[in-house]
Amino acid sequence: MTSTQPRSAGSGGASGVTDAPRGRVLLARPRGYCAGVDRAVQTVEHALEHYGAPVYVRKQIVHNLHVVRALEARGAIFVEENDEVPEGSIVVFSAHGVAPEVHAQAAERGLKTIDATCPLVTKVHHEVRRFAEAGYDILLIGHDGHEEVVGTSGEAPERVTLVDGPDDVANVVVRDPAKVVWLSQTTLSVDETMQTVNALRERFPLLQSPPSDDICYATQNRQAAVKTIAPQVELFLVVGSANSSNSVRMVEVAASCGAGAAHLVENAAAIDESWLDGVRTIGLSSGASVPEILVREVVQWLDEHGFGDVQEVSHTEERLTFALPRELRRELQAKPAPSD
Ligand code: SF4
Repeated sequence: MTSTQPRSAGSGGASGVTDAPRGRVLLARPRGYCAGVDRAVQTVEHALEHYGAPVYVRKQIVHNLHVVRALEARGAIFVEENDEVPEGSIVVFSAHGVAPEVHAQAAERGLKTIDATCPLVTKVHHEVRRFAEAGYDILLIGHDGHEEVVGTSGEAPERVTLVDGPDDVANVVVRDPAKVVWLSQTTLSVDETMQTVNALRERFPLLQSPPSDDICYATQNRQAAVKTIAPQVELFLVVGSANSSNSVRMVEVAASCGAGAAHLVENAAAIDESWLDGVRTIGLSSGASVPEILVREVVQWLDEHGFGDVQEVSHTEERLTFALPRELRRELQAKPAPSD
């Protein structure tokens, strides 16, 4: 369902850049933080409060530079691999998930681990293990080198073949075409994934599907909201970092669904004023790892450039939340109450 509700009507020219209203902004909802990102960021924040700095984090906790810098300022130290973490220290694993061998390496070094893998990524790990144990070849649709795909493949490397889009299908080799299943990265384009699945099914008619969607609710909802708005706008801006898969997919969806132009911007400072030339309506959204403050700054920038009429276009309401990782909850519950 789609509804459009007026939010605010700015004056334009707040910084004196322009006086005349030039057009409006359609602000997508849902946008920004998903339940998995919220949980991962809170995990690091709670760990810092509970244990004190430094807390090590393997890889970017979520793919957003603003979030990473903010946590660094509070004492988080981001590393690429476990061997950069001093023995006996605390390390948080990112929302994208890790292969079992990463847990094993951490145990060897005596690290205290907190696993902030999104539960919806963990679900795909379980599927990989289950189908591998049942003797299936698993065709994992995803982007080569993405951290989530590296972690998911690591559950059964001998059984998983990565399929990076429809063009990759011709290269796929399986042991038994009657025992093949496809799974996917959680943050892909819904439409492109189905193109890949259709191409795979032409080659392997007995291809099985995952028991439930692997592309997560947040990815699907953000793309659906973008699709609703894209045909109405000459320009679509998605706030997000270049290494954020779901943010990049939103730009692609906007471009393929009718937006005149679509750009990924890290923040307001990354907007090129020339993009506004001849534009009357701008679509705006943000990836699942983007804090709302960055969207607010873009809204402010657009207001200052004559786009003060902001209407929120709501596609669906999201209410899902995830509990903190069990190992952290246990520690927090065991923490003695502060004395008076
Ligand atoms: S984008 Fe989806 S899979 Fe990734 S952290 Fe968010 S809810 Fe989890």
